[in-house]
Amino acid sequence: MKTALFIDRDGTILVEPPVDYQVDSYEKFAFVPDAISGLKALAALDDYELVLATNQDGLGTPAFPMESFQGPHDLMLHTLRGEGVEFDDQLIDPTMPDENAPTRKPGTGMFGKYLSGQYDLANSYVIGDRITDMQLAKNLGARGIMLCNPEVGEMTPEDGLKAVKDAGLDDTVDLVTDSWLEAADFVRIGKRRATVKRTTRETDIEVSIDLDGRADGDWKISTGLHFLDHMLSQISHHGGVALSIKAKGDLEVDEHHTMEDVAIVLGEAIDKALGSKVGIGRYGFALPMDDCAALVLLDFGGRIDFEWDAEFKREYVGDVPTEMLRHFFMSLCAASKCNLQISAKGENEHHKAEAIFKAYARALRMALARKKFEYDLPSSKGVL
Ligand SMILES: [Mg+2]
Repeated sequence: MKTALFIDRDGTILVEPPVDYQVDSYEKFAFVPDAISGLKALAALDDYELVLATNQDGLGTPAFPMESFQGPHDLMLHTLRGEGVEFDDQLIDPTMPDENAPTRKPGTGMFGKYLSGQYDLANSYVIGDRITDMQLAKNLGARGIMLCNPEVGEMTPEDGLKAVKDAGLDDTVDLVTDSWLEAADFVRIGKRRATVKRTTRETDIEVSIDLDGRADGDWKISTGLHFLDHMLSQISHHGGVALSIKAKGDLEVDEHHTMEDVAIVLGEAIDKALGSKVGIGRYGFALPMDDCAALVLLDFGGRIDFEWDAEFKREYVGDVPTEMLRHFFMSLCAASKCNLQISAKGENEHHKAEAIFKAYARALRMALARKKFEYDLPSSKGVL
């Protein structure tokens, strides 16, 4: 099935003149920063048709004659064409707001072709600068990306995020950003987010992870083991990932099943969220922490290998048995399909455990990091 990018014009590609919101002369003509670069990156993707979708209030009336619209509009199209950006379709609604026409965005009256069942709208995006664009995304059953660049518009990304929440569009809008380049890269890669649930007779676990740390709201870590919660929050904080872990395990037996299964589900979530792995750093390494030296080497090359060199003298740190730390990382390694080598030295057992988690988190951060506009798999074999 085909997918499309429905792209708003004014405020998104062209700066919306604050005087009357009409681009009806060359004096009012200006591109939004990085719009050309962003569109060029999107046009290079083979997956999407580019569709311009714009409301032009009163177009064709004396207040906004067609001639004064056409010149700047053609200049925009011509400039973009020179950069390899061609729209497959242009949807322009000329009605005024008080007409309440079904064709006016966020109405879907202009979008009949795309609603005919030939388009995979759930994987299509609306890119726009107004909440009505995001409402349109919802009405189409598409995803929304909201551009809020305060240099050229009224809203900061924070304002945009609030507007999205106030309008109840959290489930539709995937990204609010001030950057066209970030928006384009987001379309290319999609969300690196996953939720994995696992229920056995021993544990009931749900892990959600966003590798780009974009998730907000009340993501919590709760495993019933306080020290483990503290360590997992280090992975979130130092790894730059958003993490939610809800685990209920048979702690009345002991800590083993809970720690093992949290590691397995977390590892599966990391692996799932990594998706195609294009553009990732793949490798990570990290070094000293506090008075301890913790060394973590990590490779998401797809082969599983695990090395551990850390001894603990105390049986417990907090409510976590130290023998389970090795088992935790071994399970995490296998489930996330990585090569993981960990060694740690130090006197203070709490610090040593914490150093391992922090070093792992830092290594994870490096390995997960994606370079913008880098489309290659970090492997000479072409497979990870
Ligand atoms: Mg707009």
